[in-house]
This record gives sequence, C-alpha cells and structure tokens, in this order.
Amino acid sequence: MKKPTRVNHPPTVELPAGNHAVAAPIYQTVKFEFDTVADTEAFLRGERPGFLYTRASNPTTRQLEQLLAELQGRDDCLVTASGVGAIAQTLLALTRQGDHVVCFVETYNPTRYLIRRLLGRFGVTHTMLGIEDLAGVERELAARPTRLVFFESPTNPITRIADVAALTQLARTAGALTVMDNTFAGFHQHGEYDVDVFVHSLTKYASGAGDVMGGAAIARSELIRGMRTDFSALGGVLDPHAAYLILRGLKTYFVRYQAQCASAAQIAQLLAAHPAVARVHYPGLATHPQHALAARQMRDFGSIVSFDLKDGEAAGRRFADALELFALAASLGSTESLVVTPAMMGGHELDAARQRMSGISAGTIRLSIGLEDPEDLLADVARALEAAHS
Ligand SMILES: *Cc1c(COP(=O)(O)O)cnc(C)c1O
Repeated sequence: MKKPTRVNHPPTVELPAGNHAVAAPIYQTVKFEFDTVADTEAFLRGERPGFLYTRASNPTTRQLEQLLAELQGRDDCLVTASGVGAIAQTLLALTRQGDHVVCFVETYNPTRYLIRRLLGRFGVTHTMLGIEDLAGVERELAARPTRLVFFESPTNPITRIADVAALTQLARTAGALTVMDNTFAGFHQHGEYDVDVFVHSLTKYASGAGDVMGGAAIARSELIRGMRTDFSALGGVLDPHAAYLILRGLKTYFVRYQAQCASAAQIAQLLAAHPAVARVHYPGLATHPQHALAARQMRDFGSIVSFDLKDGEAAGRRFADALELFALAASLGSTESLVVTPAMMGGHELDAARQRMSGISAGTIRLSIGLEDPEDLLADVARALEAAHS
C-alpha cells in the first residue's frame, strides 16, 4: 500500500475483549460500513442492528438519547442541533394541515413564532391563552378538535406555573397530545405526569458550561417511532462531538442543579426583603402566587429568579450595569450567573393586551444563578440594588 493510500486507510485500534474506555468514545464519523453487501441489505431491511449514516443515528448521540429518556422517565428520545430545533421538528412531525394547537402567552418567543407564523403558513391554526386559564383551555378543547397543547413550566421569565396534572388530563380527555417544554424544570422533574412529549434545550442545564447547543424530544417509543423519519428528513441532528460534551455536562447535572437552586433561593429572599423591589418571581418563595402548586409538582424550583424594580426601566438598566459577576447575556442554566433586561426578553411582537398578560414590565429583570460562591453573588446583587435605588 502506497503512503497516500495508507493515510486514508490508517491502522485501526480496537479494544480487546474485556477492556473498556471509562469516558465514552466520540464516534466522530458520518459513515459506518458493514463487512458485506448482504449485511448492509439486512440492516436496510431492519433485520439486523447497526449504524449507517450519522444523520439517521450515531452511537454517541444514541447514548445521549438513551440517558435522557431514562432521566425523564420515558422510553425513547431524539436529539437535535438546538432546543429550538427539537421544538420545530416536534411541531412539524406531530401536526398536519387543518390541525389546531392550544398554546400560551407565557411561552418562549421562538416557540410562539413557530406555532403562530411557521405552522400558520401550513394551515395549522392556534389559540393562545394565559397559562393559568384552565377554564379557557377546557372551553377551547370543547369548541374544536385539537391536536396539540403546548406549554412550559415554570414559564419564562415570570416563572408562572402550569398545572401539569390538570392540563394533561384536559388534553387526554379531549384526545389532544401534550408537548411540554421542560427546559426550566429539568430532566428530573414532571416525568410522573401524563405528558406525551417533553422537549428540552440541552444548551442550558444539560451542558451547564454554556459552550455547546443541543435539544431533545423525549416520549414513549410509539410516538418517537412516528417522529423519527421526519426528524431525520428535516436534518437538524446533533453532532457527535456536541453529544459527547453534553454527556460530559450531564455527569454534574444533579449537583449543579441543586447548588444553583440553593443559591437562587437565597437571592430570591434577599430581593424580597429589599425596598427597591416591587415583586419577586420565584416559585420557591412562599409569596409566589402559585407556590403551593409548584411545591406539589416540583422537587426543586430552578435557578431562574425574576423580579420587578419599583423604579422601572431606568432602575433596571442601573441594576444590570452595576452587576459585576452576572454576564448581560441570554440563555440560562449555565455555571456563570446571567442577567437579562426586558429589551432582551423579546415580548414586543405581542399585542398590548397580551404584553400585559405576559407579566413583563419595564422594570422586570431575570437572573440565572450560576455556581459562583453564593456569598459573592448575594453581595453583588445587594450592591447593584443600591445602585438601582440611588
Ligand atoms: C433556550 C430555550 C429554548 C431554546 O433552546 P436553544 O438550545 O437555545 O435553541 C427553548 N425553550 C426554553 C424554555 C428555553 O429556555
């Protein structure tokens, strides 16, 4: 074999039987081959297991899918290149022309766009309600056949809580599927409820480091089987290297989530006691209007703390500029603490009535609490509140 040939067919190193890598290998390859044409044909007929092309399946992404399915308490999972990718592909895979979707004002903006504008272009209609309006949901489901109810909890950024048991029961009775964006709550929550499909942004708590994007749709096998062909055809798959980084991030998911929740609770208490603050939105606070519901259906209340400053927009700008440890950046659930102002929350495309319903005011600030020492974070927030107040 000449050297230009050899570099394209390098020596292979296989682990001997009984010898294993401790960190999972990254299968950074697009193609897989079988030894014979007969084996390839058997695979294509579904008569033998294996891998052929990474857009359809890859061992590293498959490992992540199996882990996420187990964490969320479902049979199977499909991972995608971003959280929005998982939402878009789920919506496209589960709806067809003429279907009706129930969604909520308190929803991640790109999701609202996908339901209103993208699905709208293909003849899917929707009704948008407030997340606490269970009577409205019941009325809508009685008024017309509905394919999907899409909701999230806690909601962004005001941390309203969806009544998961009530919503899923109403949907089940009406023959509608439920899709829950569970990104804020995480993989260890809400799995015991009758939710058909969980979608997640893996960009947030799963990776934790904020250096990689990914998404997931998690459901029972029968649903995933129906969605798999569309997901593969739409092509927004997760790269194996990104899957590896997310698998690595998940090793510390539980300790990170719990430490971040503990700091978030302390910061929520500090804010609630401060004279510059009109209202704190954190489901773990006893003063949260839906604290009892949150305590019933959640184990941990998350690391997102939002609040309204009494002095509105100008105070919010002073607060965000005065923070030293919080990056002025979108996203959440990372090891670094982050702050977001109303202009970054993107509720502008809602009409005035729905903007009011969303609960976002000119003085609303959203914090994502990271893994810094809680005393440093508390001191930083206290200092910034003084700056906002002055
Ligand atoms: C960030 C986020 C998404 C989108 O995830 P990306 O990975 O950024 O595409 C979807 N839903 C919620 C609730 C999010 O916070």
